[in-house]
Amino acid sequence: MPAEGPNSGSGDAGSHDSLAGDAPGAARGVLLVLAGTSGAGKGTIGARLREADPALNWSVSWTTRPRRAREQDGVDYHFVTREEFERLRDANGFLEWFEVYGDLKGTPVQYVVDELAQGHDVMLEIDVQGALAVKRALPEALLVFVQAPSREEQRRRLEARGSETEASIARRLERAEAEERIGAEEFDAVVVNHDVGQATAEVAAILRARRDRGRSPHGDPPHGD
Ligand code: 5GP
Repeated sequence: MPAEGPNSGSGDAGSHDSLAGDAPGAARGVLLVLAGTSGAGKGTIGARLREADPALNWSVSWTTRPRRAREQDGVDYHFVTREEFERLRDANGFLEWFEVYGDLKGTPVQYVVDELAQGHDVMLEIDVQGALAVKRALPEALLVFVQAPSREEQRRRLEARGSETEASIARRLERAEAEERIGAEEFDAVVVNHDVGQATAEVAAILRARRDRGRSPHGDPPHGD
């Protein structure tokens, strides 16, 4: 039973429950789920992975939060109304979704399922609880947890963003302890982001190992997992 971390907060959340175990034996892509502590650099790692690997598709989440100045609809998120979101949610159209501070965010299920069925790899960059919900719906998902080398470094990175209030930095740092525990206990791999190039290479290697395992005749890892 996955542990519930404090970042589920007072929010509501849900996951798809009917995807596990479909198409046994079919050539399926790998679903890479990147999550981690705030300020660890998972966004940058995700962007670098996408640049370096044209075979990696990424899922664009739906959200009801307002678009920020530099964000593009259909690229950063699909920005939708609450009614549109709830309609898709009620039709079981999200692999996982959650509500935090009044905003809804979710991973539309159809794109992910279609790409995986075609043997294409898909990357999600979502929050820790969302990653656990994905694992419940699709246990073969590859969960990679990204964390900063230390709390001091995490704080430094959050401050360097220049967009966080002291209260929001404190909240994110407070949450990190429990999230890192979930990362260690529930995720397939933990990557410590000392250096973004090296951390990206590590995630790419973890993905490659899982892909190769999928291709091996018996589905076994070449030398353990
Ligand atoms: P933002 O700053 O864009 O409002 O929020 C970013 C946070 O939301 C990050 O932790 C990101 O991983 C998470 N996130 C973005 N899309 C989704 C989603 O579809 N599902 C979940 N569970 N988290 C998401």
